[in-house]
Amino acid sequence: MIRYPRRGETVPRPPVPLRGGKKGNARKEREHNAPHLASGDKDKLKFGLYKHDDVRQALHQLFGRKCVFCESSLLGTQPGDIEHYRPKGEASVLDPASGKHRPISAGYPWLAASWSNLLLSCADCNRPRRQVDGAGAVRVMGKSCLFPLADEKARAATPWAVRREAALLLNPRRDDPDLHLAFTDEGGITARRGEGGASARGAATITCCGLDRAELVEMRLRHAKTVMAAIRHIILALEQGREPDDDLDDLLALLAPHSSYVAFTRHLVRTHLSPYLDKLGLAP
Ligand SMILES: [Zn+2]
Repeated sequence: MIRYPRRGETVPRPPVPLRGGKKGNARKEREHNAPHLASGDKDKLKFGLYKHDDVRQALHQLFGRKCVFCESSLLGTQPGDIEHYRPKGEASVLDPASGKHRPISAGYPWLAASWSNLLLSCADCNRPRRQVDGAGAVRVMGKSCLFPLADEKARAATPWAVRREAALLLNPRRDDPDLHLAFTDEGGITARRGEGGASARGAATITCCGLDRAELVEMRLRHAKTVMAAIRHIILALEQGREPDDDLDDLLALLAPHSSYVAFTRHLVRTHLSPYLDKLGLAP
C-alpha cells in the first residue's frame, strides 16, 4: 500500500460527473438525497454517480490498474471495485468474538459522490469471504463496509463531525502507509513498530483488508524473486565497475507507482541495496 499522489505531486481534479457547481450532477444527487437522509427513508436514496465510467477511468489513471490496498494488478482480470473509504451506507466494525462484521452506524451517505472518498480495490480486499491468513488461520477478510475508529464515541453522524474521527483504516489518499506497515523478505506483512509499539492503524488495515492472506503473501514472495534478481545484477555490475543500465531500468520500472507491490519492492530495495542507494540516486 502506498500513498497517492506522492508528496509534492498534484492532486487530480474530480472527474466531470463528480464536480460541484450549481448545475453539477454531484449537487443534484446530494439535493435528491438530502430529504430522504433527513427522514431516514433509505430506499429512496440514489447513489449512481460514483459508478460512472468517467469516474472509473479517473480512478484507473490515479491509482494505475491496481488495488490500492494490496497493490495487486487488476489488468486483464477484473475492472476493480470502486470502493468508498468511508462507507456510503451502513458502517461496520469487526466483532472480536465472532470475527463477523457488526453494523455500528448509518455510514457516510453524504460522501457517496465525493471524489476524495473513492478508492479502487480488488475483489479479495473488498468483498468479505473466508480466507486463510499467512499463519494458516481462517477468518473473514474484506473491507466492505468496515470503518473502525480509535474512539467509537467520536463516530460522525454529520459532515462537520468527520474531522473529529480518528480513523483506523489507512487512507492511501491521505496517509503514508509506509509509516504503519512493514514487510518481511518472504512477503509477510506486519504493523510497523515504533516507540509506542505496533501501529494500530497498520494492524487494523491488515485485518480489515486481509493484507496477510496466504495467497497474497505467496504473490509477494513470487514478486520478490524478480526484484531480487535485478538487485543482485545491479550489485554485481557495481562491484565489477560496470554501469547497471538495463537492470537499473528494470528496478526503476518495478518502483514506479503504478507497478504491483511497490511498497514491498521498496522494502527489498532498502534492505538489500542500501549501501548503493546514494550512488544509484535512489530514494525508495
Ligand atoms: Zn487488493
